[in-house]
Amino acid sequence: MIEIRLYNTLANRLEPLDPVHPGEVRIYTCGPTVYASAHIGNFRTFVFQDILRRFLRSQGYRVIQVMNVTDVDDRIIHSAAAAGIGIREYTEKYIQAFLEDIDALRIETPEEVVRATDHIEDMVALIERLQQKGLTYTSDGSIYFRISKFPGYGKLSKIDLTGIQPGARVDVDQYDKENVRDFALWKAPKPGEQFWETRIGPGRPGWHIECSAMSMKYLGDTLDIHTGGVDLAFPHHENEIAQSEAATGKPFVRMWLHAEHLIIEGQKMSKSLGNFYTLRDLFAKGHKPSAIRFLLLSVPYRRQLNFTEEGLSQARHSVERLRNFVARLKAEQFPPGSNPEVRKLMETAEKDFDLGLANDLNTAVALAAVFDLVRDMNTTMDGGTFLQQDAPRAIAAMEKFDEVLALLTDQDTETLAKLGFAPDRPRLLAQEIEALVEERNAAKKNRDFRRADEIRQKLADSGILLEDTKDGTVRWKYK
Ligand code: AMP
Ligand code: ZN
Repeated sequence: MIEIRLYNTLANRLEPLDPVHPGEVRIYTCGPTVYASAHIGNFRTFVFQDILRRFLRSQGYRVIQVMNVTDVDDRIIHSAAAAGIGIREYTEKYIQAFLEDIDALRIETPEEVVRATDHIEDMVALIERLQQKGLTYTSDGSIYFRISKFPGYGKLSKIDLTGIQPGARVDVDQYDKENVRDFALWKAPKPGEQFWETRIGPGRPGWHIECSAMSMKYLGDTLDIHTGGVDLAFPHHENEIAQSEAATGKPFVRMWLHAEHLIIEGQKMSKSLGNFYTLRDLFAKGHKPSAIRFLLLSVPYRRQLNFTEEGLSQARHSVERLRNFVARLKAEQFPPGSNPEVRKLMETAEKDFDLGLANDLNTAVALAAVFDLVRDMNTTMDGGTFLQQDAPRAIAAMEKFDEVLALLTDQDTETLAKLGFAPDRPRLLAQEIEALVEERNAAKKNRDFRRADEIRQKLADSGILLEDTKDGTVRWKYK
């Protein structure tokens, strides 16, 4: 097994993965807050987590991943109250849409997807433990965590605690580092808002307690990996550490992994700024799920990802390149035998792919290994030195990469149709295709490569693939 090193925000450095239970990695992922549809910034983070789990599995680990769905927080309560419905009813359609969206992006569903509102009792029990230890106080019916009683407070986000006012409180779920204060574990009911009658009084949970309660319930007191976007490190994850470690006296998480943001025109994509695309916005513009997945995974998770539609078009071509290569491997006849040089290329690529991902999930290195291999193998095929027995070996290599990348199988049309997009494209008639192919040949002869590429793309958009053969003629086929 190769050593897998990941950047642990808590330690501020790369560390070798060292799971509590050998051979098994337990991961907790902060899931979506379901007051609106998730946007592709959110999916950047969820795709990173998918690469993580797929890579760990490809390396022989068993993975248990728990993802919560935040279906109660300030924004949900307000939106549901404004709509005049209960929060379960309000959040249901967003939960369904989220599950469809992750499916469209081929993000594997975690072993457990759990809702906060199904775990009120677990949260109450955890708050009681904190109360028994004298770490909380009540004010106006709300219960707060006294951060001055937890010496480790600030260790994840490295905030400066000098000058904080003991007893100063913050009531909102989301706040910034200017507001390092005692935070709400439990909030007193407000008129018109949904609340629960519990042993600790009527009310509803603060945002942070759900993740401590649910992660420890399903994964034990000490988790191997906890993930989220960088915006969650403070206050959310800092507060999770305080609640959990104060209750159990044990380390809560071995490794904290945080994904950098997806940005658009220089700003973080976010619901509050209104500068976001949902997946469905992009599908409506004709972008494919696989291209979006490619784009989101192509930039290593600790680098900001600058989203552009131009980038999406390139991503689409990259996916097509991989798929066409495998199609060529399956369709073409090669001379008998096997070429040790070609095998060596494959072994090197496989090694580089794994080493890239083992180094803090460096997807850029891993993809470079794959695309270099595709280029080199295409060259050997064109030169006639790629041999018959190399083909199944190459297909196996591509399929192995795809256990992590999940791009090769073309499910785009089916996925889009399922979500109500992509009305069946009118199929071009054979004579229309011939005419376009001829026009493309003429364009190429005149060195008008732009027009030639446009035509190729137009045909591809209608499900037609072109193959330029060695003797200069062009073959086409339906995808
Ligand atoms: P939320 O639904 O707001 O709780 O966010 C779900 C996940 O998406 C969290 O892990 C966030 O940190 C993450 N996230 C939010 N905005 C972005 C963004 N622009 N880029 C990457 N991740 C994001
Ligand atoms: Zn969380």
